Amino acid sequence: MTEFTVLNPATEEPVTTVAQASAARAMASSACSAEAWPAWRAVAPGDRARMLRDFAAAVDSASEELAGLEVAGSGHPIGAARWEAGQVRDVLLYYSAAPERLSGRQIPVSGGLNVTFHEPVGVVGLIVPWNFPMPILSWGMAPALAAGCTVVAKPAEATPLTAMRIGSLALEAGLPPGVFTVLPGKGSVVGQRLVDHPLVRKIVFTGSTEVGRSIMADCARQVKRLTLELGGKSANIIFADADLERAAATAPYAVFDNAGQDCCARSRILVQSSVIDRFMALLEPAVTTVTVGDPASAATEMGPLISAAHRAHVASFVPDGAPVAFRGHAPAGPGFWYPPTVLAPVRPDDPAYTEEVFGPVVTVTPFEDEAEAVAIANDTPYGLSGSIWTSNVGRAIRVARAVESGNLSVNSHSSVRYWTPFGGFKQSGLGRELGPDAPDAFTETKNVFIATEE
Ligand code: NDP
Repeated sequence: MTEFTVLNPATEEPVTTVAQASAARAMASSACSAEAWPAWRAVAPGDRARMLRDFAAAVDSASEELAGLEVAGSGHPIGAARWEAGQVRDVLLYYSAAPERLSGRQIPVSGGLNVTFHEPVGVVGLIVPWNFPMPILSWGMAPALAAGCTVVAKPAEATPLTAMRIGSLALEAGLPPGVFTVLPGKGSVVGQRLVDHPLVRKIVFTGSTEVGRSIMADCARQVKRLTLELGGKSANIIFADADLERAAATAPYAVFDNAGQDCCARSRILVQSSVIDRFMALLEPAVTTVTVGDPASAATEMGPLISAAHRAHVASFVPDGAPVAFRGHAPAGPGFWYPPTVLAPVRPDDPAYTEEVFGPVVTVTPFEDEAEAVAIANDTPYGLSGSIWTSNVGRAIRVARAVESGNLSVNSHSSVRYWTPFGGFKQSGLGRELGPDAPDAFTETKNVFIATEE
């Protein structure tokens, strides 16, 4: 049996070892999930709703334990980890209302009656990355279960602990065995088997664009349903008429949240050139005062990166001689620390400006007018997130419509909200998660004509 040692990213010390599921186990668990499906889809909607509420209550009562696991195993600051555990509860509660609202339509036809049904697709394979192990798990798990699907979830190899605990909480809360299964293991072993297994009818994947592209090709062979949440290189666009103080004060949280390991990170700040000097003067204290340190401390705003390898990857975007305008602090000694870093001015072909860094590195670039701001924002293969700062309502709406991105905020650094649709344009993904329609993505629409004529 292969084991994986989970390291504490803040100390580099082992937290625990986890037995990795084999390819055979991934195949067997997919088959068990398929066996559990007919009974789960047959549960009366009100009963399925109650079971999801019980699951949410179990998560709520274990929220401190879950937060502690995320601090130790992923290096998330305790405040963020508590919020993330609360998000699992809230997402389960939000979608617990869905089973009783999965109503079809009645369509007028001649000679009879036509009705539609939302039929669950079957087994869903849910492949989760390491950056937000709890929220991303819940965004796929909760609407899929609500729609009447069973779920086999594969957490990232590096961060399996909270998903495993949530899997056991599902059983403690009364979900029947096989309805929600968590399989820790390697992507190339467990994840790939979920993609390949013919009884897994839909894949929900969040992670790198490269792996997403290969999963999409594999799903195509079976015409398997697929949702992809991939990378981003989002812009934070600041016009001269904006509240510059607020824009500068919140810019660090739009990019350094989760140490920048966030697909929605607004890692390109675009500032109208007439106010760029003033903006930089305001941004510097906002960046240098970000509290980076012990994730267990309630005062900590930013923790370490996930691993030594990932830190080396992030550091490669800031080689010797890089145009560092200013940077914040990071602890010395053990731990995969990297300080918040602001690069300016950057060349248009600088990889820190063109590629997803997935770390606490942000570039600042000037623009002259609205048209140039939109052109720069769209000059990327990605289109996931973005923010627009202006006091001109018309401009806010024009720019929001023109930026090719799935999730935008105006005069706010707000990012994902589970009650609104989330997903990307271009190479940032395919399909939408979250929001009121998410359970529909786990169903097929069936139409039935019923003749009424004798
Ligand atoms: P990956 O895309 O490699 O991993 C994401 C998930 O997919 C993990 O659970 C992984 O398992 C699994 N996986 C990997 N290969 C396969 C496969 N062949 N079949 C099925 N599942 C697979 O992302 P990384 O963790 O390697 O991160 C690399 C980069 O991707 C980051 O630096 C960042 O740029 C981007 N990224 C974007 C995320 C987002 O939220 N949009 C999230 C994570 C990463 P395992 O952990 O075992 O490899």
